[in-house]
Amino acid sequence: MRFGWLLVLVLATAAGNAPAQQASVHFLSRAESSAALTGAAAQGYYAQLQLAEMRAKTALPLKNLSLDEARVAAGKAYAAASEDFTDDERAALADAVESMQPVLSARAPLYARTPWCFIKVNGTIEGSLPHTRGDCIVLAEGVLQALAKAHAKGKFDHPSGVWSLLLHEQTHVLQRSNPALFAGLYTDIYGFRQVEVVPPDWLKLRRVINPDAPVVEWIYPIGKDAARRWVLPDFELSELDHPQMPADFKVVALGVHELEGRRWALDDAVMPAAQTDLESVTDYVDAFPVKGEAFHPNEIAAEMMAEIITAVRVQNPEHPLWARTRQWADGALR
Ligand SMILES: [Zn+2]
Repeated sequence: MRFGWLLVLVLATAAGNAPAQQASVHFLSRAESSAALTGAAAQGYYAQLQLAEMRAKTALPLKNLSLDEARVAAGKAYAAASEDFTDDERAALADAVESMQPVLSARAPLYARTPWCFIKVNGTIEGSLPHTRGDCIVLAEGVLQALAKAHAKGKFDHPSGVWSLLLHEQTHVLQRSNPALFAGLYTDIYGFRQVEVVPPDWLKLRRVINPDAPVVEWIYPIGKDAARRWVLPDFELSELDHPQMPADFKVVALGVHELEGRRWALDDAVMPAAQTDLESVTDYVDAFPVKGEAFHPNEIAAEMMAEIITAVRVQNPEHPLWARTRQWADGALR
């Protein structure tokens, strides 16, 4: 997901003179989008969803339904949200991708040879936030209208704001198709550890699955020596009956402890009276240069890859993680 999707069009730096590979861009039709959002490959997503988060993601009341019935109803809402692109929207996205291609060929050939697939939806699902499904980037009509408007006004001359959005989302596509590649970044460079944590019921009811980070159990060490402990960054809903997305979302740091090997458990078997906002965990916040999207290694990587490849709007450029991540990117994104 990308929360800060509002576009800021700023100057891009020169991209070098490497020969650009032709970009492959595909816009799904409404029928193709419905199939992509609800077909067999998408079912794993719905199988993870709980009632309250489906209410948030579809704005449907989903009352008096079993969990399975609600998942079917949610899937139908996603299918019904599909739209056809307008010519202006296609032109804007195609130009953005084409303008980026020399930069990708020079700095991230893996991205240059990865096809671009776009799905358009109306504003009724996932809070209109840009996200991905399978190999496709899902954009809501509000985002697309803003892009088409900027494009029509000629503001795509130096479209690094659009590039950042597209590269963030395309990184999620690549994370899905190259999980082992990115796992190395998360563990060796970032310091996360992937474990197994069975969520207690109180968390299950409140958890929100990020479609771009469906594997939640990445834990992170806080504190030093004897004070060292581990936290699991997680998304929760603060309201279960009529949750709004993303207004009723909160990002928390859940305490976890090791049981045996990869099996870990939440410290709080019952819901605690107060929870820790991830933002207040300074060891965690300070560990990463990107702010606002640092709640999962997939999101940290998506932000960092977009900033590394465009070389603009780099947050906290002095942060030591940039050099180590650039070094990883130089090898991994070939
Ligand atoms: Zn994202």
